[in-house]
Amino acid sequence: MSESAEGTGARVFAESYGKNVFSLKTMRDYLSDKAYKSLRATIEKRELLDQGIADEVADAMKTWAVSHGATHFTHWFLPLTGTTAEKHDSFISPDHEGGVMLKFSGKELVQGEPDASSFPSGGLRATFEARGYTGWDPTSPAFIKKSGDGATLCIPSVFCGYHGEALDKKTPLLRSIEVLTKQVRRLGKLFGMDMEGKQVYAALGPEQEYFLIDKEMYCERLDLLQTGRTLFGRRPAKHQQMEDHYFGAIKNRVLVFMDELDRELWKLGIPAKTRHNEVCPAQFEIAPVFEEQNLAVDHNMTVMETLSEVADRHGFACLLHEKPFAGVNGSGKHNNWSICVSGDKNWLTPGDTPHDNAKFLTIICALMKAVDTYAPMLRASVACAGNDHRLGANEAPPAIMSIFLGSQLTDIINQLEQGGARSSKSAGVVEIGISSLPKLPRDVTDRNRTSPLAFTGNKFEFRAVGSSQSCAGSNVVMNTIVADALNDISRELESAVSCGKDFNETLQKVLRDIVKKHKRILFDGDNYTDDWKREAEKRGLPNLATTPESFAAIENDEATISMFERHKVLSREEFKARMEVYKGAYERTIHIEANCALTMAKTMIAPLAVEYQADLADSIFSVNEVDKDIPQKAVRTLLKDICVETERILSAISDLEEVLNSGRSCEEIISAMKVLRKPVDMLESILPHEIWPLPSYAEMMFIM
Ligand code: ADP
Ligand code: MG
Repeated sequence: MSESAEGTGARVFAESYGKNVFSLKTMRDYLSDKAYKSLRATIEKRELLDQGIADEVADAMKTWAVSHGATHFTHWFLPLTGTTAEKHDSFISPDHEGGVMLKFSGKELVQGEPDASSFPSGGLRATFEARGYTGWDPTSPAFIKKSGDGATLCIPSVFCGYHGEALDKKTPLLRSIEVLTKQVRRLGKLFGMDMEGKQVYAALGPEQEYFLIDKEMYCERLDLLQTGRTLFGRRPAKHQQMEDHYFGAIKNRVLVFMDELDRELWKLGIPAKTRHNEVCPAQFEIAPVFEEQNLAVDHNMTVMETLSEVADRHGFACLLHEKPFAGVNGSGKHNNWSICVSGDKNWLTPGDTPHDNAKFLTIICALMKAVDTYAPMLRASVACAGNDHRLGANEAPPAIMSIFLGSQLTDIINQLEQGGARSSKSAGVVEIGISSLPKLPRDVTDRNRTSPLAFTGNKFEFRAVGSSQSCAGSNVVMNTIVADALNDISRELESAVSCGKDFNETLQKVLRDIVKKHKRILFDGDNYTDDWKREAEKRGLPNLATTPESFAAIENDEATISMFERHKVLSREEFKARMEVYKGAYERTIHIEANCALTMAKTMIAPLAVEYQADLADSIFSVNEVDKDIPQKAVRTLLKDICVETERILSAISDLEEVLNSGRSCEEIISAMKVLRKPVDMLESILPHEIWPLPSYAEMMFIM
């Protein structure tokens, strides 16, 4: 019995895993040996693509895709809107005999020229050269997207302007990965490692949180339809207080959804691994096995899309917004980051040899230096209107960037600073040996759930990313700032060694100096407390609570801009353009929310309240007619309460309109929206449930 059940599960994988991906394994069947080897070298060793094989690869891709039902292809890219983009072309081409044939050339594969002038460019493209170009990214495999009976070949691509300016999220990500791997190779060589032929890559495992609610209720909420979050709504009596949802038994309807979701993802070669209930009712999480970063970012975009599509098929709406419901937990993404080198263990694993451990400590110190130096940039990389509701709301890390290392590692870092201590807090330590570098624990298992950037044994978990955001931005920053710090470290080491100084002694001095200067970035306590806010302020760590504050901190920061420029990850123009795009997106989001709140308050809430007032007044009047002595004190108070709240709503409506019409700041708009929300939520608790025009929080969170 159990055997056959196992067999069925195994068959699911065998028959479906990667079925819709033009993977290396598939390529071997469709390409000549020469083309296969050449493409494989491009994918694995990042060697320049041999343009001579493009026609053959395109033709193979087409043959494979058509055999899977595809009629169209598209360059699939990641514009600055934060979503994915695609423009489809069919494979047909005239055969000059009155019919058509299926054709897909190398030229079409390598470069596309969509008329993509409507994507945000932040001023990088004047309209006379508004064309954007998409270029095939061979390192992320093409895949087939099914739609009913149809299918489309999606070719992951970069999106650039005429002069190669990055107009997307993938281009700087690829650049930053290259910069990081270059510095890792350099450091490896300094540590005497043979880096020839080794693959070095940044890894990413993004844990994705989301909400599911019934689709019918979703459709009844204009705010969810338009803004992704509820602009009004009272927290119900029971929400997440009982802590009974987290890791709880998954309801059948949800599990059926999750099953289909996993299978769809497996078909696309996305290694979906864990699934569970999250803290808030109706909140869930999915995490894949970590992968090379560029692939992991593409895959996470597809995970978000697939979540929504599969949810729809199951009568759910998937909410990816950072804060769909006020007063309860919102959703984030845990961005698990590490550096992997083929044939070597992950560089964020404390090693077995003294050599490994010195390398490990170098990476940790580089990270400390990087995060402390560029904290505002790291903060800004997760800034968006949605995430502002979440960061610092005692459910997610605060906007203050800091690093959690755990007590054992912190102890070691302190010893590094003092130089030469040889004791460690824990048992089971590994001798580090090099000169007087301290000993390292084999396993660092401390857990801290409140830190924005936590060391979790063999990776750093950046927890401030918003659930709806692409992981590209935060990884571009992580990769580049760590590369920058490694660059400084390697330069010092190289110059010392070249003047005949001792490597180990120099390394210790370099690391000691970093710890001295940057240890203020380490914090192991509870990041949710006010004590930490005060302590961070004393340490001089920035607390950039909102998106506008964090953008203002970096917008003209020469050190940040020149860091990106120096590593050729973003030119000055590209950096400025991105700032424009993200600032514009933030402002538009706030305006859309405000206008949506206005519409709802004016057309759904206020008329209802006024009507109900009249009904109630009529009723009081009628009862009075019947018999003046019937007590009506409480009901009169109720009428008064409703009238007071309605007045508040009407006056808040006109204030919000005024704030919007006079072009005031987002901050003022947000506070005017808050003023409007209060009486609306109050009315929700007074008016009869059956006339309230919006599904309640309790219904949305608990009916499924
Ligand atoms: P949690 O953080 O909830 O305990 P896990 O430890 O399972 O969960 O890790 C969550 C994510 O981190 C998964 O996507 C996993 O694949 C990824 N991950 C694990 N090890 C690494 C690593 N070395 N580098 C990057 N990501 C990793
Ligand atoms: Mg985690």
